[in-house]
Amino acid sequence: MIELIDVKKAFNHHRPNEHWAVNGVSLTLEGNRLTVFQGPSGSGKTTLLTLIGCLARPTSGRVRLDGKDVSGFPERFLTEIRRGTFGFVFQQYHLLRGISVLENVMLPGYPAAPRYGTLRRRALELLERFELAHKAHAKVEWLSGGESQRVAIARALINDPAVVIADEPTAHLDTALAKGFLTIAEELRAQGKTLMISSHDPLVCEAPIVDRLVRLRDGRLAESA
Ligand code: ADP
Ligand code: MG
Repeated sequence: MIELIDVKKAFNHHRPNEHWAVNGVSLTLEGNRLTVFQGPSGSGKTTLLTLIGCLARPTSGRVRLDGKDVSGFPERFLTEIRRGTFGFVFQQYHLLRGISVLENVMLPGYPAAPRYGTLRRRALELLERFELAHKAHAKVEWLSGGESQRVAIARALINDPAVVIADEPTAHLDTALAKGFLTIAEELRAQGKTLMISSHDPLVCEAPIVDRLVRLRDGRLAESA
């Protein structure tokens, strides 16, 4: 469903500090799979996830989504595609402070504009599913790390995306919470979601639910199972 063809991404392109964070990756990523991108810090995991999720455009190479070459699409189409296809759980969660948990979960749902009541109900259902209903009206700055992450996951699911992308989801969690994340990942996988997860946590990389482990080093594929 997602195909990367010799994808490269440079930061500070054509400047003295040019750095190729992703440096020639070709991969076919099938749907309904849980893929883990494993690699040391700086190996290009986050950058690769942003390319897969159409948050950024490659400097060269192609990204195909369901057969469509999206790498050259204008920004407004990319935004549409992103919203309809991907849900993101960022490493630092990127929850908006000062507004409630419920509002945070609803936020990515506004542009697609279902009725306010429908969106709100959906957000509450997601919070309930992740045992956060009692926190719906709390401000996000009052949440614990594990709760923040579950809110981030609920938010990623608000538009019912086919693909959920999670960047080092267990980096700030203790073992029990990391296992909790894996349980959620397993449920999503069972529902037919495609999951793309970056991690260097052995608990994630060696989890039995992982369908495919893609190893990265210096922006390239190391080896792939
Ligand atoms: P990982 O997620 O595996 O730690 P990243 O994709 O974040 O790796 O980064 C890969 C490399 O690209 C690193 O050397 C990092 O310093 C560099 N990099 C990432 N983002 C930027 C940026 N916005 N500007 C300049 N360099 C960046
Ligand atoms: Mg990273």
